[in-house]
Amino acid sequence: MSDTNTLEDFRVETHAWLEAQCPAEMRTPLASEDDICWGGRHAVFTSDAQRIWLQRMGDRGWTVPTWPREYGGAGLSADEAKVLAQEMRRLNCRMPLASFGIWMLGPALLKFGTEAQKLEHMPKIARGEIRWCQGYSEPNAGSDLASLATRAEDRGDHFIVNGQKIWTSYADKADWIFCLVRTDSAAKKHTGISFVLFDMASQGVSTKPIALISGKSPFCETFFDNVRVERRNLVGTAGGGWDVAKYLLTHEREMIGAIGERSVAKPLGQQAAELVGLDAHGRLADPMLRARIAEFEVDEAAFRLLMERFGDLAKAKQAHPAFSSALKYYGAELNKRRHELLMSAGGSDALEWEGAPSNEGSAARTWLRTKANSIEGGTSEVQLNVIAKRILELPGA
Ligand SMILES: Cc1cc2nc3c(=O)[nH]c(=O)nc-3n(C[C@H](O)[C@H](O)[C@H](O)COP(=O)(O)OP(=O)(O)OC[C@H]3O[C@@H](n4cnc5c(N)ncnc54)[C@H](O)[C@@H]3O)c2cc1C
Repeated sequence: MSDTNTLEDFRVETHAWLEAQCPAEMRTPLASEDDICWGGRHAVFTSDAQRIWLQRMGDRGWTVPTWPREYGGAGLSADEAKVLAQEMRRLNCRMPLASFGIWMLGPALLKFGTEAQKLEHMPKIARGEIRWCQGYSEPNAGSDLASLATRAEDRGDHFIVNGQKIWTSYADKADWIFCLVRTDSAAKKHTGISFVLFDMASQGVSTKPIALISGKSPFCETFFDNVRVERRNLVGTAGGGWDVAKYLLTHEREMIGAIGERSVAKPLGQQAAELVGLDAHGRLADPMLRARIAEFEVDEAAFRLLMERFGDLAKAKQAHPAFSSALKYYGAELNKRRHELLMSAGGSDALEWEGAPSNEGSAARTWLRTKANSIEGGTSEVQLNVIAKRILELPGA
């Protein structure tokens, strides 16, 4: 049988399985951010359907389709995973699990982790049993991340960690943290850093939520006061954490870039038509907005193709290692434009703070949240620097 036939068979089986196993409730657009399932020890499911959907996908290894089976995945090829994503999209299946473990830590463990670390952590990530947070940024180390000062004193079989992180997304809800610490303060700043994992329930860890302009509080200040971290939880070598950190960041940037793609939500033109209405020719009634939305939808379609091309290049091992910065930059800016346009289409009604027209969550809150897209995971300015230096090979300032 040819590869194409095999892949077509896989598509038919996948479609049938999704059709039979994905509950109807999990095939509707998310009503709000609260409908996202993050799993974890204290997982809160908004419905039975959401819990069942996670369990079914986790059992099949399809929360992490390309991960090896022994680490909780399904061992699918990149082509099969693409078919799975296409079929999920066709049936409007919701993503069963949102997870920093899947998007960031898992790929880093696959590359840098020991066999014991992979076996301990990856299956729990795949099944949504443990929720992770990211301890990178500090009050004086954001864009200049290598200036981080959280110390880890080497005590042989363990480290003692002291210091502070900031902007740690969901630190108050996470079970474990992947964290950058300084193990050698005499070494050059990039070489004295190590990458460690520890339980957020460890003695000496505390979190303090930070309120945002949107009214939400998705991240925290995180404090470490003599936290004991076992040496077996060091990923890579002591002092070699910067390589792990950078590799993980490429995955984070790809993940954030993907917000530029529309998932199961309606096309912007359709959403705007519902808000503004149509003219006698069946076109969006506001001609200025129509032109801006048409331009946006062309850019959105081009971005989707760019993401697909990146996926194909990555599969062929030909993707530029810094290309995730281009995806992150464009995806983040595109998502900001999408929500600016939705606000324009909604007019003053869109400013409604508490109410939720068509039950989609407050447009104003979502719009304000998108402002952070070009900061989280490295700012747009920093991505432009990376693109200039590493992809375009322009001379530094
Ligand atoms: C929603 C959200 C979630 C986040 N979640 C996490 C998380 O879970 N874990 C975590 O560790 N961190 C997290 N962060 C932090 C994020 O990584 C940092 O905010 C980001 O890296 C920028 O660092 P900073 O805030 O210290 O800003 P700074 O680095 O102080 O930058 C301030 C301004 O200066 C500009 N700038 C800085 N350096 C340069 C340069 N060399 N060239 C040009 N311009 C420059 C920046 O672009 C920016 O406009 C999150 C941030 C947000 C907004």
